[in-house]
Amino acid sequence: MPKKLVQIVVDGMTPSALEHAVASGRAPALSFLAANGAYGQAVSVFPSLTPVCLSSIATGAGPDVHEIPSLVWWHRGEQRIVEYGSSFAALRAAGMTQAITDTILNMNQRHLGARAVTVFEALEDAGLTTAAVNITCYRGRHRYPPKVPLVRRAAYGPSRFFYYSLFESDRTGAKLAVRNRSGGSVDVYAAEVGRWLVTRDGFDFLVYYLSDYDYVSHAHGPARAAEVALARTDAAVEALFDAAGGPDEFLDRYAVILHSDHGQTEVRQVARLEDSFAGLDGVFVAPSNRAGQVYLLPGARTDVAALARRVDGVPAVEVTLRLEDGDAVARRAGEELRFRPDGGGWATSGDASVLDHPDAFNRAWSALANPNAGELLVSAREGWELADLGGSHHAGGGSHGSLVAGDSLVPMLTVGIDAAPERITDVMPSVLAHFGVEPPPYARQLQHVG
Ligand SMILES: [Zn+2]
Repeated sequence: MPKKLVQIVVDGMTPSALEHAVASGRAPALSFLAANGAYGQAVSVFPSLTPVCLSSIATGAGPDVHEIPSLVWWHRGEQRIVEYGSSFAALRAAGMTQAITDTILNMNQRHLGARAVTVFEALEDAGLTTAAVNITCYRGRHRYPPKVPLVRRAAYGPSRFFYYSLFESDRTGAKLAVRNRSGGSVDVYAAEVGRWLVTRDGFDFLVYYLSDYDYVSHAHGPARAAEVALARTDAAVEALFDAAGGPDEFLDRYAVILHSDHGQTEVRQVARLEDSFAGLDGVFVAPSNRAGQVYLLPGARTDVAALARRVDGVPAVEVTLRLEDGDAVARRAGEELRFRPDGGGWATSGDASVLDHPDAFNRAWSALANPNAGELLVSAREGWELADLGGSHHAGGGSHGSLVAGDSLVPMLTVGIDAAPERITDVMPSVLAHFGVEPPPYARQLQHVG
């Protein structure tokens, strides 16, 4: 039997934050893991926004398969906005009750693609016991009625399932998750549940998702977050060690993969993406953080190439992506690059400097092939954010979502598992391989960047 495995996902932690913490010795638990494991960097998906990233991490699929396109998108089938919580104002703008149901339940039950398999489903179908703490892509086969009246339907999660005090498979005594968000109570909840799980050794595989780092980084910027939030993240990891009787005892029992879902970059300026498409009928603009989706609704009297030309010279926009005659087209400052998969590589024509971002062809192609994606995808320039539907932004703080390296690169630390994931989509198949479980078919078909 392979070693049990703990996957620790630190939302929004950049590679440099982890590297500096380890080098300076200011994060003893993370340093201990680094000293006992292998470290590298990996690439996120596009848009590098948490619901898209966590769905990719849980399923090993890109957006083309898991079908979650962004934090905010247009549901063509139901002719309405889906908003997973860009901000409180954005939730209100999208309709609070609907947005809460979309975020907590529908993303897993209705929006997550039918072809996608979660790590919880795959391992439990193979007879293993899995546990999820707070990860928002949690789909499993066990039914959990809600604990509070905020939601009215049951959720379906893994056999050990803990979701912000709203759904819990077991009574752990953990205090309410959201009682003091900015003070770090969500990760304190995760740590209390994590301690309970490790004390009982109550799983074969645990996803331990820590979201407070991203929250602090949005508010204060990635540079400050490394000073303020990393100690909390470290304490949440330390809590697992303590429950096992110490760090060595923890690693005697568990292999570990620790990584983040995306990076963050500093935000200095804010733009309203909607302004670039003002006066056009039948166009819906869905901006959030540092990415946007632009939808052509039925009856629109314009085309996607015209939409792309509209943002030429808009300072907040670095690159747009669209599909045209079976090609992906990236456009940047009026220059274009066309590409499509070709025999395991890519056939390209045009200006190669248009798309010089990490793993850009794979990420762009997967984002465009998502049936829920906008016709035009927008990736913001470094330093800029696109205000969300409620007008909220993080100017003076940090954000993410774009193709640029700072938003896209994540730290990837492995201890006691024979894997070196280069993309966040590689983690799920690596976890399955560790337990000798076959990966889903889509996880074997990745194109490689030429
Ligand atoms: Zn974020």
